Amino acid sequence: MPTKKKVEPLKLRSIKEETRACREAFREAGSKPGDLTYHCHHGILVEVLEEPASVRIAYILSDKATAEKALRLRLFRPVPRTRANAKLADLWDHDDWRFFEKAEVSASSSASRAHKQNCPGCSWDGATIFAGDFASLDDWLR
Ligand SMILES: [Zn+2]
Repeated sequence: MPTKKKVEPLKLRSIKEETRACREAFREAGSKPGDLTYHCHHGILVEVLEEPASVRIAYILSDKATAEKALRLRLFRPVPRTRANAKLADLWDHDDWRFFEKAEVSASSSASRAHKQNCPGCSWDGATIFAGDFASLDDWLR
């Protein structure tokens, strides 16, 4: 029986370090609006980026509770490029909304299936990133 690779739980770094790593991930991916992301918002697994990632990062830094910032910045990441999400980004670029919704459903669904692999140690519980070790962070939301 194959041994499962143990996934280490998330250990968050400082807000400054998480900010740097988050910016770097989007820069390396050549991210732009129309691309799929993981955890752009705490209660949604996969979303189309509607503005540059830098705008969302700045918003997290300026408007989210201090205790939440490092986790939000750690998990907000571009979905790795696949044929399905490249097609979606292409439809976005060309303002081709006739097929966008169908392509979004398909690309999001495959990104969701690949989430565990792409986001090791993630605290996402199917409804929020503020779960498990990070459940207490969203007390103020309740
Ligand atoms: Zn995740």
